[in-house]
Amino acid sequence: MSLSNLGTEQLQEKDRSYVFHPSTYLAKHSRGETPNRIMAGAEGVYIWDTEGRKSLDGFGGLYCVNMGYGCAEIAEAIAQQARELPFAHVYAGQGTKPVALLAEAIVEYFGQNMRRVFFGLSGSDANETNIKLVWYYHNILGLPQKKKIISRLRGYHGSGLVTGSLTGLPFFHDHFDLPLEIVRHTTTPHYYRQAQDGESEEAFSKRCADELEALILAEGPETVGAFIGEPVLGTGGIIPPPQGYWTAIQAVLDKYNILLIADEVVCGFDRTGEKFGSHLYGMRPDIVTVAKGLSSAYLPISGSIIGERVWSVLEQGTEKHGALGHGWTYSGHTLCAAAALANLDVLKKKNILEHVRDVGPYWQEQMKAKLDGHPIVGEVRGVGILSAVELMRDPKQRIPFEPNLQVGVRAAATLLENGVIGRAMPHADTIGFAPPLIIKRNEIDIIVDATARTVDATYRSLKAEGVL
Ligand code: PMP
Repeated sequence: MSLSNLGTEQLQEKDRSYVFHPSTYLAKHSRGETPNRIMAGAEGVYIWDTEGRKSLDGFGGLYCVNMGYGCAEIAEAIAQQARELPFAHVYAGQGTKPVALLAEAIVEYFGQNMRRVFFGLSGSDANETNIKLVWYYHNILGLPQKKKIISRLRGYHGSGLVTGSLTGLPFFHDHFDLPLEIVRHTTTPHYYRQAQDGESEEAFSKRCADELEALILAEGPETVGAFIGEPVLGTGGIIPPPQGYWTAIQAVLDKYNILLIADEVVCGFDRTGEKFGSHLYGMRPDIVTVAKGLSSAYLPISGSIIGERVWSVLEQGTEKHGALGHGWTYSGHTLCAAAALANLDVLKKKNILEHVRDVGPYWQEQMKAKLDGHPIVGEVRGVGILSAVELMRDPKQRIPFEPNLQVGVRAAATLLENGVIGRAMPHADTIGFAPPLIIKRNEIDIIVDATARTVDATYRSLKAEGVL
């Protein structure tokens, strides 16, 4: 059967019958009770489905299509590499041109004390690698007890066994026997929700650091190997850190010889208006996780960027024990590396960093101007081209809506009807935005206007239903 002859309904029927979707209510999907858009094409910041319904993709796929859709340079690089050499592994010291050039480009782009890049295919596998490397590191240094990893409640680091455990969202734990024993969670640095009355941002940051220190002391510092955090907390609600947070956290980690893993899967490659979120907040990570924006999702690729402190010990370990027993078949996949290399080229040629510094503040101002003070808006927050609106039953008293009302999910559905894709974040009633970084001012206006109309409509319908 020719694919082009298939209509939307036939494709939906196949989808419901055969596809096992991530993060989906499976039984409802099989019954045809979930939205089942079949996406068909895209250009710039727009994506459309088989019905021709076009949406402004305010979430850039899953915060990953940073250079936008239809980027000819990346597509060309992939085609050319596929003809020349689609795949050569990088085990046991073998290399390829795209992998060598890409690793160099990443190390240089991050700067600081970074030394090597280990490649994977997803943010989850990169973090899995990072945890193994933390364990190896402490073993080599004769500190085999230093195995626990601390992350934050509402942090997101993947959905594997260890990485799903690090993710501090119950949705990713419930019914999977997670989190694993080696993981501990500490305070979410969300000033609006967590601060006590009258507490300044600085004081709140200090309290977060004190709570981390108390946890480390309760566990025993000799058992804690690493702390992992996103510079701006992402999937847990797009929450920029309060003033002074990372400085205070870094001091605690230094005091107890605990490694810092900066999970830059969302923040990396210009999204915050700095090359990396770590740069924006003055973090000094030992290991950095990158994915998503590394290739703008044209092909899957991730990286663990390893700093001097860890790298020197890994090298030392192999002098003692021989080759490091870790790798995936597709580590440093040739085609994926070519895509990423072209993506970083485009990012530099288009001077995306300057662009984000220009339109990012405009976006944040516009969101605040149109939404702050609305009767159901608790907080409008963001940095660079990352933004969120949190809906609350009582914004002043900080009382959220009851979870069963699914206010965030409803609002995201209304927003879609208004032509814009935003994401109902999987915690509280927060709508998140992370469009392609190439977004222009007039496209930002479209998102902001649609969001303001959506919040109004949501408010009116909750009133009409007697919820408010
Ligand atoms: N870390 C962060 C900060 C992420 O946002 C994500 C994905 N949303 C991951 C890790 C996991 O990446 P992946 O889904 O590619 O495994």
